[in-house]
Amino acid sequence: MNRLMIVVPCFNEQEVLPLTIPALTQVVEGMIKGGKIAENSGFLLVNDGSRDNTWQVIENAHKENKYVYGLCLAGNVGHQNALLAGLEAAVKICDLTVSIDADLQDDVAAIEKMVDCYINGADVVYGVRSERKNDSLFKRKTAQGFYKTMNLLGAKTVYNHADFRLMSKRAVEQLLEYKERNVFLRGIVPLMNLKSETVYYSRGKRVAGESKYPFKKMLSFAWEGISSFSTKPLTIIAFLGGVITLCAVIAFIYIMVSYFLGNTSPGWPSLMASIWFLGGVQLFSIGVVGQYVGKTYIESKSRPRYFVDKFLNHDDV
Ligand code: UDP
Ligand code: MG
Repeated sequence: MNRLMIVVPCFNEQEVLPLTIPALTQVVEGMIKGGKIAENSGFLLVNDGSRDNTWQVIENAHKENKYVYGLCLAGNVGHQNALLAGLEAAVKICDLTVSIDADLQDDVAAIEKMVDCYINGADVVYGVRSERKNDSLFKRKTAQGFYKTMNLLGAKTVYNHADFRLMSKRAVEQLLEYKERNVFLRGIVPLMNLKSETVYYSRGKRVAGESKYPFKKMLSFAWEGISSFSTKPLTIIAFLGGVITLCAVIAFIYIMVSYFLGNTSPGWPSLMASIWFLGGVQLFSIGVVGQYVGKTYIESKSRPRYFVDKFLNHDDV
């Protein structure tokens, strides 16, 4: 039967979990009663190296609630890696997974709609926000700008879709074949070209606690996404180089003509200007190229993504 495992990365979520656990329990129970998923379905709470009591909350819930499964990572590895760790553990024991944030910003009622799509044959179901009026204007604008930039730079992403999605066993197994260290799941999943559906929902407010994505993390996440998926910045640099060279040739012709007409000045300002200008452009270009070299370096080390500390489940094995 369809054994569902909802995977929830949790980083310092002790305030939110007491609300999330009953909400997810209700959803899972509802679907079991409706005969859509197997009796032994549940949700896997992944503790991503929290510094608060998140893991204790998970452990206690696991004892009392047969739907609660827990995975404790040895340290904080970030949202994407924590999610991947959860999916990797879940796929071994289930037929389909849904990933969702711990803070109930994504509408849990959409899970059932996703499962319906799965039953109708979809391997991937994207949860897409139909509106984001609950996000601050700043967050909304930066996020939308990010999706647009990503697509402009050639990385296929689903507009307004974060990491709320259903993936079949097959989809997760294929996802795990991507061995790169810089994981950007919402860029990888569309690359697999599996049969996909979209479910729309309206995104709410975080029910408790604070966002774990301050602006600095968001910026680095955006850059991670772009540099992991696109080499267009390199093309842009090459193009820029071409244009500047062309300008230099034209300038050179102009200088030569002036020289032969005999009206050259000592040339100090133009000389200094070009040295500074070219120096700046070159330095910038080298910086961007360096980003990619840095990534190659990190990938080449093939570090393990995470180490699992404990795995709580309700199976005998
Ligand atoms: N998260 C995580 N590890 C981290 C940061 C965040 O597992 O290092 C989890 C967090 O617990 C939440 C999800 O990722 O379940 C999304 O984080 P958050 O809701 O704070 O992000 P926002 O919705 O503000 O973008
Ligand atoms: Mg959130």
